[in-house]
Amino acid sequence: ALVLGIESSCDETGIGIVRGSTLLSNTVSSSMYEHVRFGGVIPEIASRAHLDALVPTLRESLETAGVALADIDAIAVTAGPGLAGALMVGVCAAKALALATGKPLYAINHLVAHVGVALLDTKLGPLPEKLAALLVSGGHTEILRVRSLTDDVQLLGATIDDAAGEAFDKIARILGLNYPGGPAIDALAKQGDPKAFAFPRGLTAPKYMGSAEAPGPHRYDFSFSGLKTAVARRVEQFEAAGEELPTADLAASFQEAVLDVVTAKAVLACREQGLDTLLLGGGVAANSRLRALLAERTKAAGIDLLVPATSLCTDNGAMVAALGAQLVMGGAAPSGIGFAPDSSLPVTSILL
Ligand code: ATP
Ligand code: MG
Ligand code: FE
Repeated sequence: ALVLGIESSCDETGIGIVRGSTLLSNTVSSSMYEHVRFGGVIPEIASRAHLDALVPTLRESLETAGVALADIDAIAVTAGPGLAGALMVGVCAAKALALATGKPLYAINHLVAHVGVALLDTKLGPLPEKLAALLVSGGHTEILRVRSLTDDVQLLGATIDDAAGEAFDKIARILGLNYPGGPAIDALAKQGDPKAFAFPRGLTAPKYMGSAEAPGPHRYDFSFSGLKTAVARRVEQFEAAGEELPTADLAASFQEAVLDVVTAKAVLACREQGLDTLLLGGGVAANSRLRALLAERTKAAGIDLLVPATSLCTDNGAMVAALGAQLVMGGAAPSGIGFAPDSSLPVTSILL
């Protein structure tokens, strides 16, 4: 099936085209740099940027793939979760295209698309049966169990406050680094000592960890707000004492605190739930320390680690097209034209 995918859940306008599991084009326009002076994504600016970017991105994606709109078998679009106004732009565009061309429309889950994208990376091969996914980005931090990409995905754990990427962005701001904070902290941390400061590991105290037999409500969950406060306090202490900020040590110690918990809980979930493969997704997957630590810990636990190419990990349209193609090929009924985007669409809702 030749499928066109539209992504607009956050600050990336993505249009991708796939034939089955073969990637034909993946055009992305990001408004990331329009958010720099605010230190985080501003929903209204993102929505406006999607409006401007959609048609040029669509044209370029079709051209790169060498296909015409008339050749497309189906259109897939991110229906949620994400920013309501941003989602609305992509969904309206998808509905307009579907109506104009008469093609079936599939309204799909963004989080599940982050998993489905792995099918497009020719270095990774097919998805195994006992699969977990760790999604870490500016908007989400989740551990999923994926029994079937098209009809059985469950949430094992999630952040109860900030997302991991959001924590990087907030701490970068405190340290005087530019948005997006992830790449800046990643680079600075290389010159720092991750053990310089003992920052808290959220939701890892015994009272939050339940038991392996009956996982507690927080066993696979994350919290980064306490860590953020701890770093801010430490910075205030240095400032009050009139001392220069040891930014590299602070960045390295903060990063280690986030990634220690993220990797430990992902591996714990795999082991306890009998899952032998872990797939990494989301923008934070670009982090060099995350890749190294996760490789080390999954290897020690006998878990296979799948890391798609970075361009497929960050938000893009090809991931939407990839999941759409699986649904089309599996005979799923299209969504029709009446659905509304859902900013908090649960991961169990793969297709609207
Ligand atoms: P969504 O949450 O819907 O996937 P998003 O736009 O918030 O959307 P991405 O675009 O996938 O997420 O990723 C952006 C986030 O990834 C930002 O928070 C950014 O700081 C973080 N990030 C990017 N590179 C790195 C890195 N090397 N280390 C840590 N974080 C990073
Ligand atoms: Mg983004
Ligand atoms: Fe995403």
